[in-house]
Amino acid sequence: MQETLFIVKPDGVKRGLVGEVLRRIERRGFKLTRLEMRQADKAILARHYEDLLEKPFYHQIERYMMEGPLVVGTFYGPDAVKTWRKTMGVTNPAEADMGTIRADFAMGPDENGDMRNVVHGSDSVESAEREINIWFGEG
Ligand code: GDP
Repeated sequence: MQETLFIVKPDGVKRGLVGEVLRRIERRGFKLTRLEMRQADKAILARHYEDLLEKPFYHQIERYMMEGPLVVGTFYGPDAVKTWRKTMGVTNPAEADMGTIRADFAMGPDENGDMRNVVHGSDSVESAEREINIWFGEG
């Protein structure tokens, strides 16, 4: 059993896709354990995306993730981390498999190069622990 962290990013909230994302988690049988609407700031994003801070497109990630409220939560179940990554699809929606959230609800980078891909999910059990601590604090 694992717990993972997911985010419905600001584009997903703005487009009314929160229910769609939660439906995919719940109908699979996973148990929601935390859920909150938040406005991200630069400090929390710098911790969450610390591996990407040096990327030339980091300012685009910052702008995207702060352009409106997001919904962040956690859920629990067998193999939750890998199952959620497969449910989301790969980073670039243009390359994501049909039926994944990113393929069903997003396109590739827009004219500004922004990669609005609707959802986030931790990429490993260690990342999930780290990210749950960042967004929800210890305990
Ligand atoms: P993820 O784990 O699939 O979300 O992918 P990464 O950890 O590599 O990237 C984090 C997020 O940064 C992605 O979900 C995108 O929203 C954004 N991102 C990744 N690559 C690019 C890029 O080349 N350009 C821009 N503008 N954003 C990117």
